[in-house]
Amino acid sequence: MSSKKHIDVLVIGSGPGGYAAAFRAADLGRDVIIVDKDPTLGGVCLNRGCIPSKTLLHIAKVLEEADSLKKMGVSFTKPKIDIDAVRDWKSKVVTQLSGGIAQMAKARNVKTIQAEASFISNNEVELNSDSGKQILTFDHCIIAAGSSSSAIPGIPKDNENILTSKTALDLKKIPKKLLVIGGGYIGLEMGTVYSALGSSVSVAEFLPTLLPGADADLVKPLARKLKKEFSNIYLSTKITKVEPVKPNGLSVTMEKDGSSITEKFDQVLVSVGRKPNTNKLGLENTKIKVDDFGFISVDKYQKTNIDNIYAIGDIAGNPMLAHKATHEGKVAAEVICGLPAAFDAKAIPAVIFTDPEIAWVGITEKEAKEKSIPYEKGEFPWAASGKSLALGRNEGRTKIIFDKDTKRTIGVGIVGPNAGDLISEGALAIEMGADAEDISLTIHPHPTLGETFANAAEVFEGTVTDLYIPKKKTG
Ligand code: FAD
Repeated sequence: MSSKKHIDVLVIGSGPGGYAAAFRAADLGRDVIIVDKDPTLGGVCLNRGCIPSKTLLHIAKVLEEADSLKKMGVSFTKPKIDIDAVRDWKSKVVTQLSGGIAQMAKARNVKTIQAEASFISNNEVELNSDSGKQILTFDHCIIAAGSSSSAIPGIPKDNENILTSKTALDLKKIPKKLLVIGGGYIGLEMGTVYSALGSSVSVAEFLPTLLPGADADLVKPLARKLKKEFSNIYLSTKITKVEPVKPNGLSVTMEKDGSSITEKFDQVLVSVGRKPNTNKLGLENTKIKVDDFGFISVDKYQKTNIDNIYAIGDIAGNPMLAHKATHEGKVAAEVICGLPAAFDAKAIPAVIFTDPEIAWVGITEKEAKEKSIPYEKGEFPWAASGKSLALGRNEGRTKIIFDKDTKRTIGVGIVGPNAGDLISEGALAIEMGADAEDISLTIHPHPTLGETFANAAEVFEGTVTDLYIPKKKTG
C-alpha cells in the first residue's frame, strides 16, 4: 500500500550537500524532509569517506612521526596495533558526528526518512523502504544523491579480497600485500593508511604520473617519499586480469611498457574514480537533463532545467568534494527561499591528506600553461623554514601564482605537512583579490608553516630576507 504526502522542500541524500541544504532551508523557515537510503545520516563523506579516512590517516601520521623521532634521538619500541580497537575508534568518531547531524535535524524540525527515493514525475517521488512504499509530492526538490566508486570492467566485484574505498575503510584485516589500483587521492590516502598499519603496499596507475590533476613539482616530494614507503609504484600500467588464487589471495596481471607482469597480492583496492549516482533515481521519469558523464546539469543557482528541482554536490559535477557540496547546498536552499544567492566561488580548494599533504586552490601552473593564461609565480622552499626544519621536514614548498598584469593571486599550491590547513589562506587571497604586496605585507607569526605563504609573496616581490636570491644582472 502506498500513502501520499506533500512537502515544501524534499532533499534526497544526507551527505555534506544534502544536510547543509536541508538545515539552511529549515533555518530560513521552510518545511523540510531529508530522505536517505542509508541507516545513518552524513552520506559518503561522513560514513565511508572523508571522516573515517582522516581518522585513520591521523593514526598513520602519528605512527610515522613517532618513528621519525629516531633521527632526533628518541626511539620507541615497535607499536602494537589492535586492529579491532582501531576500527572501533574510527566508528566512534563517525557515530558521534552522525548522531550530531541527527540531533541538529531534530532541533530544526527537519524530518528524516530512511528510504530509497525514485522520481515518478517532475514533482513526485516514490520512497521505498523496509516498511513499504510511500509517495511524496513536493514544491521543491534538492537532489544530493552523491556518487559511488567506479569499477573496472572485468574485475570481479563479489570477491572479499577486492576492496572499494568503502570496504577498505571497514578495515576487516590488514593484508600482508595490498595492491592499490589507481594513483589518485583516495588510493594514495588508503595506501598510506594500510602501509602504516603494516601492509606492503603497491600502486598501479594507468597514467604516467601519480595525482595527474596536481602540479608535478608538488607531487614530486610525495612521490619520492611513497617510493621509499611503498613496495612498488607502477606508472603507465594497465591492469589486464585479476583472478582469485587458492587457498587465498589474487593474481594480478599488469601490462607496462609492452611487457606483462603477474604478481600475487592478498588484497586489491580498486580506486579508479567515482561516478554520479544518477542511474537509480528514476530520472527517466522526469525531464531532468543529465550530461554525457552522468552528472545532472545545473545553472549557477544549482537549478536543473526543471524549475523547482535543484542538484548539488557530487551528482552535480566536479570537483567531487565535500566542501563544494556544502557550499552548493546552501546556495540551492537560499535560492529556494528567495535570497539572492548563486554559486560564484572563484576557487575550490583540493587537498590530498597523504604525508606530505598536497593542497592547491585556484589555477594550477599546469592549467595556466595549458590555457595560455599569463602568470608569474613566487615560491618558497620549506628547507628555509625554521618551523619545517624543527618538525624534521624539509621537502615542502609554497607556491603562489599571480596574474601577470594585476599581480593578484590566481592560484596557490602547497606541499608539506599540514598543507591542507594552510591552503585556506590561499583560498581567501583569491576570493579577496589579494596581490603579492598584500600578502607579503601581512605579518605572519613566527615560527609557523603559514609564514611560507608570506615568504612566497616576498620572493615574488624581491623583498625576502629568509633566502638569498642573487640579483639578475642587467645590461
Ligand atoms: P554523498 O556524501 O555522496 O551523499 C549522498 C547520499 O545520498 C548518500 O548517503 C546516499 O545513501 C544517498 N542516496 C543516494 N541515492 C539515493 C536515493 N535514490 N535515495 C535516497 N538516498 C540516496 N571530500 C573532501 O572534500 N575531502 C576529503 O577528505 C574526502 N575524502 C574522501 C575519502 C573517500 C574514501 C571518499 C570515497 C570520498 C572522499 N571525499 C572527500 C569526497 C566526498 O565524500 C564527497 O565529495 C561528498 O561526500 C559528496 O557529498 P554529497 O552531499 O554530494 O553526497
